[in-house]
Amino acid sequence: MNHPTVDKKQTWSSVLEKIKAKITLDQFATWFTGLRLIKFDKHEVLIHAPNLFCKEWLKNNYMDIISSTINEATNLKPDVNFVVEGEKESSKLDSPVCHAPVPKSVEKQAYVNKNYTFENFLVGPCNRLAHAAALAVCESPGVAYNPLFIHGAVGLGKTHLLQAIYLQLQQRPNQYNISFLPCETFVNHYISTIKSGSWDNFRSRYRQSDVLLIDDVHFFANSQSSREEFFHTFNALYSQQKQIVLSSDCPPEEIPTIEERLISRFRWGLIARIDPPSFETSVAIIQRKAALLNIDIPYEVACYLAGNVSSNVREIESSIVNISKYASLNNTKIDMNLVRLVVHDSLKERRKCISIEDILNTVTKHFGVQISQLHSKRKFKSITLPRQIAMYLARRLTNLSLEEIGGYMGGRDHTTVMHADGKIQKLKKADRNMSTMLRKIEKELVRRK
Ligand code: ADP
Ligand code: MG
Repeated sequence: MNHPTVDKKQTWSSVLEKIKAKITLDQFATWFTGLRLIKFDKHEVLIHAPNLFCKEWLKNNYMDIISSTINEATNLKPDVNFVVEGEKESSKLDSPVCHAPVPKSVEKQAYVNKNYTFENFLVGPCNRLAHAAALAVCESPGVAYNPLFIHGAVGLGKTHLLQAIYLQLQQRPNQYNISFLPCETFVNHYISTIKSGSWDNFRSRYRQSDVLLIDDVHFFANSQSSREEFFHTFNALYSQQKQIVLSSDCPPEEIPTIEERLISRFRWGLIARIDPPSFETSVAIIQRKAALLNIDIPYEVACYLAGNVSSNVREIESSIVNISKYASLNNTKIDMNLVRLVVHDSLKERRKCISIEDILNTVTKHFGVQISQLHSKRKFKSITLPRQIAMYLARRLTNLSLEEIGGYMGGRDHTTVMHADGKIQKLKKADRNMSTMLRKIEKELVRRK
């Protein structure tokens, strides 16, 4: 092991001092006081972390701060790495779910998670239709809803539902030839078939399915020729009354570059949207996940997580895992104090990702207006709407106060920001086009990061 010299140690101490000034004392005491410097040169800074959880937490939440502070202090840009005593590959933090390999009827790279069953899927107003339709497909494949097209933002349970159909039908031995695969697999298989020329193989692979489940078909946006091939696969299966189930992160008509003829086919069956869970559904999901993981989460904590973490179920799930790991490593029980500490860090990091400048840039680009117009006092509808949307998004996606947002919007009063926020919320509820547009802009914001 490489031992840092005295001045390297001093540099590291000054880096720590600077970091301390940038975060709260609580955060510093929790994550930084147990670190030990092992190596510091222009290529690498290697730090010993007291445990795996701490290491993962620093990597996921503090990497930017650590790297930029090292750069401030030294003008160098070394890699920053962490080690933990006795660390083994297999002990890396994993998501709690266990991946079981899929039977031979499915592509090798597709994985089915045995926990993604109907029993483990919580139903609320946000996903009732998609869930009911998925069950109906299992009852009578090819008859009830064909195709079934499920769409919704990431982390809301689309893959879970597709796999639940797969797992349910698979329990009926030899009855159905079922294929579950990510769209990407179809596209990659198509591209490799262009090279190999084994079209018989390719076509029989998909066209002999009784039930074809393709996840994330928005991926088709990237490849016109594979869309063409999928169109023929679709027709072949549909004409034989074979079941097709598709998922996407947006409705068919919003998949970029997609042809009208595919959109119209998707509309032949049922299009079911999954919305973010309501507060009550989130609480129920959290309690179910905690029970599945054998973690005791008080009701108060479940409510706090449901109200503060995110509407993305995947993120809710990972915060439960983080909290439980933190509690077991520190040998404490899960209570509000602990949860506030752990959740606070990750919330702050996430919100920090999107700045008011990002919002202004994305909104002005979307509407084709200038930032100076948003700042102006003009009241044309073509300008007030983007202005109000920018304020609404800033309320949701940044940590700025009403006053601060008003300041960025051409020196407006905090009541103007409140009014804009309320107005867009109302429009979003009442007008489907508005909610679609907001979703598009938010997606664009995340994509640009
Ligand atoms: P998507 O495919 O829509 O991005 P996933 O199906 O991968 O989302 O879901 C993300 C995580 O959230 C999974 O672990 C899944 O089990 C969980 N999840 C989503 N919705 C529900 C629900 N209604 N009940 C239980 N777990 C859910
Ligand atoms: Mg998915």
